[in-house]
Amino acid sequence: MKDLALDIRVEKTQNSRLSEVDFNNIPFGKIMADHMFVADYSDGKWHDLRVVPYGDFQLGPATSSLHYGQAIFEGLKGFRNAQNPSEVLVFRPQENAKRLNVSAERICMPQISEEIFMQGLHALLEIDRDWVPDTEDSSLYIRPFMFATDNFLGMRPSETYTFAIITAPAGKYYSKALKVKVEKEFSRTAPGGTGVAKVAGNYAASLLPAKLAAEQGYDQLLYTDAKEHKYIEESGTMNVMFDIDGTFVTAPTVPVEDTILRSITRLTVIELLQDMGKKVEERHISVEEVISSIKNGKLRGAFGIGTAVTIAPFATIAEDGVDYDLPTDYTFSLELKAKFQGIQKGELEDTKGWTYKI
Ligand SMILES: *Cc1c(COP(=O)(O)O)cnc(C)c1O
Repeated sequence: MKDLALDIRVEKTQNSRLSEVDFNNIPFGKIMADHMFVADYSDGKWHDLRVVPYGDFQLGPATSSLHYGQAIFEGLKGFRNAQNPSEVLVFRPQENAKRLNVSAERICMPQISEEIFMQGLHALLEIDRDWVPDTEDSSLYIRPFMFATDNFLGMRPSETYTFAIITAPAGKYYSKALKVKVEKEFSRTAPGGTGVAKVAGNYAASLLPAKLAAEQGYDQLLYTDAKEHKYIEESGTMNVMFDIDGTFVTAPTVPVEDTILRSITRLTVIELLQDMGKKVEERHISVEEVISSIKNGKLRGAFGIGTAVTIAPFATIAEDGVDYDLPTDYTFSLELKAKFQGIQKGELEDTKGWTYKI
């Protein structure tokens, strides 16, 4: 990859904020690292690749992404290599590059080459590597994103775009097991919609149901299919897995269903489970099956899966105002999480080439 080095201009900050950060107490998403990678798109090409000090964009009031929502993002993490702390390990970034392009295609944005994505990421983390925390349960959260920049109110795909990568040191995410509510009124997407894409608008749509659920004491939602509200799809920003009598069941993604975001953490978990000799089923799972398996004791555990949380065990699943508590002695999800994070941090051998070294 480095043989095909792209021309990336680098402008380093004169005022690093690194020494002001308390790495033992990091509020999520508030403190950004010193630099960002930026590329602009016009006349059908990406150009002006650059690593520059983190700072504001200048946008006109008619900037089309602010009106019509052509905006997509990704989320991934970098860790200090436990074997060699001067090295950063980024987890499966090529998968995020691919998924960004799936999202781009769905809302008529241009593709960005894997070279630009990867070399931009590489150049950025080479400069900001000291921002990768080494405290326990922490990481550098990496946020690539793309948005439309035409200063034009006409309703059509923008002709200009900006792609950028910013990063933020992150501490522990959810700490306790979650109370989740089966959502039957609101949908985050529908067949033929944009659920398969990491599109900004999807998250806007999920804010109100999440807020209402929080008022009722729930940490997260379990979205159901938009048509019948009968089958479990996923949680707000996590895919979901159920351990039913030792079989791990998770809802199918594309090409079977286009309503579920194809989580890279989930792909990884499926492979880890299969390597451990566990049975995994990607199939539709109804709310009724989940509730009845809680009642008859077959549901050993359930958990959310996504980059932010890695694996987040559920304590309670609520349906129609009734809370069903899950077994409290289920430890497997935490074992799986430890294994997953061990690979991410270089503590366990990465036999699959999942980690990218910088
Ligand atoms: C980002 C996201 C996930 C998790 O995907 P990962 O690649 O594992 O981080 C799951 N569901 C939704 C809706 C998401 O936006």
